[in-house]
Amino acid sequence: MTIETRLQDFKHKLPVSVTLVAVSKTHPAEAVAEAYKAGHRVFGENRVQELVPKATQLPADIKWHLIGHLQSNKVKYIAPFIHLIHSVDSLSLLQEINKQAQKNKRIINCLLQVYIATEETKFGLSLEEVEELMRSEALNQLEHIRIIGLMGMASNTSDDNLIRKEFSSLKQLYDKINALQLPKISLKVLSMGMSGDYKIAIEEGSNMIRIGSSIFGNRDYPL
Ligand SMILES: *Cc1c(COP(=O)(O)O)cnc(C)c1O
Repeated sequence: MTIETRLQDFKHKLPVSVTLVAVSKTHPAEAVAEAYKAGHRVFGENRVQELVPKATQLPADIKWHLIGHLQSNKVKYIAPFIHLIHSVDSLSLLQEINKQAQKNKRIINCLLQVYIATEETKFGLSLEEVEELMRSEALNQLEHIRIIGLMGMASNTSDDNLIRKEFSSLKQLYDKINALQLPKISLKVLSMGMSGDYKIAIEEGSNMIRIGSSIFGNRDYPL
């Protein structure tokens, strides 16, 4: 199957309310170009070093999403063009994104990455830290960022009940934060679900899924 047919198959299965982020990490710019030709415009990468060269080579109307861990010193490379950063996990990172967005006369949309998996290896804020950050005075001063949602990754397990429970905890937090009606905070994106667990994620309220291998094929090496 070609990338185009896999992409179309996938899109046909999705509710219209769910945004598909095609995760092209480790695949060459040519693979992205093929999906682009099939009409897709939303792509995700997890490393700045890989994202920037691809963005430079490919059409400017692509909406690039950064989905992997972001170091403060790399923000400047993506600030001119990034559409959405899924992986914000600290106030200091938000402050740096704000600074670089200001330099570029932009407002950068961000999601807070929340730690929902029972595994030790995942990045992100705890459920409590998210609420604390959302309520913080310092956040109010950042005029060039907008927190528009939450992102989470479930445990890498075959236990569907555990995955469901983890996604459900993130949806509950999302609803709770919206119910607080904090100034300037109105969440509309809930980014959860990958190739192996997107169906459960959508059932639990996801409206943005990040799909790599089901569209581009298996990666040669895990990331
Ligand atoms: C690689 C990656 C994905 C996509 O994973 P697949 O299993 O290939 O669909 C989604 N989210 C993040 C954060 C990733 O790093």
